[in-house]
Amino acid sequence: MAQATITRQKDLFDLSADEEPPGCTVNEADEPPSLRLLRNREKFFSNVRDEDWNDWKWQFRNRISSIEDLTKLTPLSLRDQVNMTLVTNKYPISITPYYFCLINHDDPADPVRRQAMPAIEETALTGILSEDPLEEERDSVVPGLVHRYPDRVLMVVTDICPMLCRHCTRKREWRHGRWVRKPEEIDRMIAYIRDNAAIRDVIVSGGDPLTLSTRQLECILKKLRQIEHVEIIRIGSRVPVVMPQRIDDELCNMLEKYAPIWLNTHFNTVRELTDEARTACDRILRHGIPVNNQSVLLAGVNDSVQAQTALCHGLLRAKVRPYYLFQADEVEGTEHLRTTVEKGLRIIEGLRGHTSGLGIPTYVIDLPGGGGKVPLQTSYLVSRSDGHFVFKNYKGKIYHYHNPKGVQAETGRNGKSKVNNLQMALPEMVAV
Ligand code: SF4
Repeated sequence: MAQATITRQKDLFDLSADEEPPGCTVNEADEPPSLRLLRNREKFFSNVRDEDWNDWKWQFRNRISSIEDLTKLTPLSLRDQVNMTLVTNKYPISITPYYFCLINHDDPADPVRRQAMPAIEETALTGILSEDPLEEERDSVVPGLVHRYPDRVLMVVTDICPMLCRHCTRKREWRHGRWVRKPEEIDRMIAYIRDNAAIRDVIVSGGDPLTLSTRQLECILKKLRQIEHVEIIRIGSRVPVVMPQRIDDELCNMLEKYAPIWLNTHFNTVRELTDEARTACDRILRHGIPVNNQSVLLAGVNDSVQAQTALCHGLLRAKVRPYYLFQADEVEGTEHLRTTVEKGLRIIEGLRGHTSGLGIPTYVIDLPGGGGKVPLQTSYLVSRSDGHFVFKNYKGKIYHYHNPKGVQAETGRNGKSKVNNLQMALPEMVAV
């Protein structure tokens, strides 16, 4: 029953308070991603045979990995060349030919370009950002194995990625050269997992673990599957986005043998959902591997309701679940790509009610200092007393709800009613 309309703190909830940032407007008339890919391939790689283009090893070998490579493909001003060289001395460049062809090269603010091309802002020192804000190295129990939550571990098996994303949390690793964990290092990780019966969930990540050969990856999965208490294995990979050619039948057939395996990938904009990327996701799904998406909220890439709606709807059409939307970590060299928490909350509020819950990712912040992930959400609870709740809906209208009669209010450990605690925690911004 609607009774009143809530007035809310304007700056937090008013979606019209922000203009769409450049690059975030998803225009219906935009060129479909696969068409742009085709045109750019024709323009930049017309001499490449289909069998090479569709071979992930060709894509990997032919990454654009220097400013010299870049200038051979696209003209850069002297200033850009100097700036980019300066940046890549600290944070190298790597772009697959495939991903390079997703860029709108006529638009300096293109959201795909912002994720791939070095920007001089990466060299800015803020004094507050850190190389390892999540303190993964502190939480490493043996080299490459992060054990933060009781039942889960993260295996960092390589630092190699087909593309170096400018917003990467593990940017610090880029300057250490290219490495893959040696068999004896993998064995130490496996031994730790085997000795800790509480671990039921193992995340195999990197870098990108799908840059390993299928045989190398199988070696790791086989050892994990021999541990009885390991229930699920998750693979974190951006390969479906930046090098979908890697998702071939050989890889999928191998992964299927070690089920249950889940794949978490990382699309940030609907522009990355090409036919090739969608086919790669479909192929994985057909082998019984659920695919979830973990995007990062990035300035000028996807920090608008419109951009997130287009991304989430595109993911659902591709049968990929929008799982997490991460607030960008406090990583040195990424300040220009970070957005405010308030903006993230406004975006989630703009999605809620306007699309199905299946299409709304959980907005989370990974707390600096190794505090772990916490979900962020504006409150829909206005007040509560004696089993009577007052909520606002997505339109700001007020509704009442009553607990079942005869059920006593829950009490906390100190014997006090949790009702009072909850009332104290009610959001200040709500006034009826
Ligand atoms: S794929 Fe992931 S780990 Fe690799 S550079 Fe991109 S964000 Fe970083």
